[in-house]
Amino acid sequence: MAPKHGLAGFQEDQAAKRAKSSATPASRSATPADTSAKVPFKVEYPNMNLSSPTPRVKRLIDAADFQVSPFIAKGASKDGELDQYYAVTPTTEWEDMKKYNNFIIQGEVYKNNQFVFVRGEDTPKDKDTEGRPKDFWVARILQVRAKNAQHVYALVAWLYWPEELPPPAAKAADQLNKDSGKRRYHGSHELIASNYMDVLDVLSFAGKAEVHHWLEEDDNLQHKLYWRQTFCRETQALSKLRQHCICKGYFNPEVTMYICDNPSCKIWLHDDHLLDAILTKVYKKQTGTNDGTNGVAKANGKKGKTPPYKGIFKATIREEDDKPPVALITDLRANANPKTWEERIACPECDELLQ
Ligand SMILES: [Zn+2]
Ligand SMILES: [Zn+2]
Repeated sequence: MAPKHGLAGFQEDQAAKRAKSSATPASRSATPADTSAKVPFKVEYPNMNLSSPTPRVKRLIDAADFQVSPFIAKGASKDGELDQYYAVTPTTEWEDMKKYNNFIIQGEVYKNNQFVFVRGEDTPKDKDTEGRPKDFWVARILQVRAKNAQHVYALVAWLYWPEELPPPAAKAADQLNKDSGKRRYHGSHELIASNYMDVLDVLSFAGKAEVHHWLEEDDNLQHKLYWRQTFCRETQALSKLRQHCICKGYFNPEVTMYICDNPSCKIWLHDDHLLDAILTKVYKKQTGTNDGTNGVAKANGKKGKTPPYKGIFKATIREEDDKPPVALITDLRANANPKTWEERIACPECDELLQ
């Protein structure tokens, strides 16, 4: 089974195959010839506002249904951002099939809204979904229809691994490389929900997936798959995330953050940017220099220039139960006295000591 995997709607002319090892991981429309034979249905998104559509588009508009997306991101730019009209073609064949609320594969009951692992073209045949989930695609079931027991189809909405996102039209500061839309804040178990839809043969499903909607209120995700952000087919934009820290960057659940306890501040701080603020302050105090720099934390976590304290001071943060975190500072200069000491940590935003 080799279902297609949406996303490249804007790159259809390239029709490049989605491949894990590809140098262009984002181009993955991949509608191989044999897929259309196995899954005869295609999802199309007619422009409903055309004043004089062609007869073909007119038929699509007449057949179109409105899909309310099951994904509502915290930072959606408007309500129903991912909702859209769509039509499945060939329309009559699709509509003639009976709708079901659930179906069974290998003894497992699948229902609407269930997340599933899907076998892609490059998924090794012998792979199960344990251990290396990124060998699979992930989708959410929106609707199930069947012709008979052998021909069961699911309309799904895709979720994408960050590596699969297309690079943004304008380079983003927190983009990891030029070939994909993956950002620095994306965690290794993160998926991005989308409104790219497809019809799949349910035999391409490799099992149920447990995917959490993470609201960024805790970092207690362990190794669970989660989504917090959406990618909109129409705008090709990621939903906004809450900004944190003095760098105005985002929360990567795999990076430790400290929270200022001052009720009127409550800023979340990346550990490396907090250390940067501490060392910049130590450097100024110990060397009497004030060159006007305020550390190297740059917007969106982008690396700045070499900090002035580099090679002179270093620091780590020590945390003990029930005690405020402290900075352990080391003076690296040969004649330093003292060599090491501890300091309470002040919030770089409001100056209140962290508790
Ligand atoms: Zn930061
Ligand atoms: Zn503060």
